[in-house]
Amino acid sequence: MNILLLGSGGRESAFASRISQSARCTKLIIAPGNGGTARYGQNAAVNPNDFEAVKKLVQKEQITLVIVGPEEPLVNGIHDFFSADPQLASVPVIGPKKEGAILEGSKDFSKQFMQRHAIPTAASQTFTNETLQQGLDYLDRHDLPIVLKADGLAAGKGVLILEDREEAKKELQLMLGGKFGAAGSTVVVEQFLSGIELSVFILTDGSHYVLLPEAKDYKRIGQGDTGLNTGGMGSVSPVPFASESFMQKVRERIIDPTVQGLKAEDINYTGFIFFGLIKVGEEPYVIEYNCRMGDPETESVLLRVENDLVELFEATAARRLNEVQMRISPKTAATVMIVAGGYPGDYEKGKAISGIENVRHSEVFHAGTMSENGVVKSNGGRVLAVSSLQHDMFTALQCATADAGRIYFDGKYFREDIGFDLV
Ligand code: ATP
Repeated sequence: MNILLLGSGGRESAFASRISQSARCTKLIIAPGNGGTARYGQNAAVNPNDFEAVKKLVQKEQITLVIVGPEEPLVNGIHDFFSADPQLASVPVIGPKKEGAILEGSKDFSKQFMQRHAIPTAASQTFTNETLQQGLDYLDRHDLPIVLKADGLAAGKGVLILEDREEAKKELQLMLGGKFGAAGSTVVVEQFLSGIELSVFILTDGSHYVLLPEAKDYKRIGQGDTGLNTGGMGSVSPVPFASESFMQKVRERIIDPTVQGLKAEDINYTGFIFFGLIKVGEEPYVIEYNCRMGDPETESVLLRVENDLVELFEATAARRLNEVQMRISPKTAATVMIVAGGYPGDYEKGKAISGIENVRHSEVFHAGTMSENGVVKSNGGRVLAVSSLQHDMFTALQCATADAGRIYFDGKYFREDIGFDLV
């Protein structure tokens, strides 16, 4: 197969690494890729949101399978674009059409979808500019803390958790007034749930699904999960508190009704679904859906998937995922993200990176990197994902953390506590 993988992060590096190991892969193009992905295939300087440019690439490289890493092209309708074009319609796309990607693209839609299918989630109400006054009245009666969520994609910044009612009212007005642009023209006001979060992933062909290993990610910049939110500072899989009985509840109450609900609503979904869950007592609730894999969860999750990834994608496209037997490693995978100093605020790019060759017990997945005249340099906030697969959790965490320490660039930072709360 000639495969096109869209995206440029650590998630795509992990995909590219596994795809390139498949005997089913003849050619792998990563667009745009990063400073490390060329080792698994060939980078192409094409923006995944420029669908016409993607089409040209698909035709030039005779691509026979497209995998979409990030959410933006999916929410913007790249799969619909392929289906509507007679020259592209025969090329399978792994990733949902707009009608499915809206599970991530609109929090209001996803809340209503969960209500329609009795999927456990926090109670909520949705407000727009027209219903601002009702929203303010609602906040007067709402328990504290209050969760405010911009409806649309806001690069992980559109969720506010507020302890103060007056502040919540002010923020609701600001959001509806355009603080997050169009993404905030509709706001979901949600009940706060107190518990531990975890991420669960499936790959579905629209009728059947396979369950991938669950993971826990660490969102905050500081040790002890303190400070500002980031795209993710590390991840661990498996998650010790996701017991067999808990995961059975997740399948029965959340995953099955989601897949069946999509089908019942004639939403033909092919691709990944990421369930952002919270465990309250022993009960699972959905915090959010994403229409793609997580980053940095993918880096850990894929280390534990022993199936041939391309075979999984082929089975998805052929709608025969029911014939697939998942083979999941019982080992633990841990990922530590190395970020640029200053991230998630302002940070510098273009710092030369050294020491990757000294890494001993981990795989290094490039994220925000570029290659300039053979020198690998930083090119983003999250720069490298260091992922280790080991027999036990403690060793995996130690290996990933120690190996992150073997890599150097000016201003580099990583959390030394990723996963250690679990052992
Ligand atoms: P992401 O960057 O994870 O895609 P997002 O902007 O799509 O984030 P959510 O995942 O819905 O937003 O919320 C972000 C974070 O806010 C969650 O991971 C969780 O920690 C917290 N959160 C969201 N909703 C609730 C809730 N109802 N109760 C408690 N915490 C919540």
